[in-house]
Amino acid sequence: MQRMLTETETQSYTETIAKRGFRFTKQRQEVYQALLEKRDHPTAIEVYSRVKARMPSISLATVYNCLETLTECGLAKHVNIDRAPSRYCPNLEEHGHFYCEGCGAVIDVPFKSKSHLEETWDIPKDSIVVHHEVAFRGYCPACAKQQPTESSQPETEANSQNQPQSQP
Ligand SMILES: [Zn+2]
Ligand SMILES: [Zn+2]
Repeated sequence: MQRMLTETETQSYTETIAKRGFRFTKQRQEVYQALLEKRDHPTAIEVYSRVKARMPSISLATVYNCLETLTECGLAKHVNIDRAPSRYCPNLEEHGHFYCEGCGAVIDVPFKSKSHLEETWDIPKDSIVVHHEVAFRGYCPACAKQQPTESSQPETEANSQNQPQSQP
């Protein structure tokens, strides 16, 4: 599960970061590695607790700064879900996100073909798409198994405690 940066990766990321006028500090490297290791789209707080295990002296503010730097350099992306704290994704391929309303997982959804956007979307004529973001909501395979199917569920006792929370 642990995935260390290879030498070439470190090299190319060092260059990427240097091009923007940043140094690839140990702290940034640890933060970046935490993102690569477990691609579950952690929040800054989650990244902080993962990095802290290896680097007890790091502060939450530093982790925030590192994440912002990585995002600015294009090594990570913000993933924003309504009303929730920003999450971070190191997957730089174009992809969508699937949000599980059961367990809160955020799963990468790769595009099958990058070049046929027009076949799926009715994009306004003569416009130029530079970036697109697609979001899916629903239940991940594990949570889907726990969802009652329509046929087997009596219509009384709708499972109200299973509703996704929608607090403002
Ligand atoms: Zn789930
Ligand atoms: Zn992602």
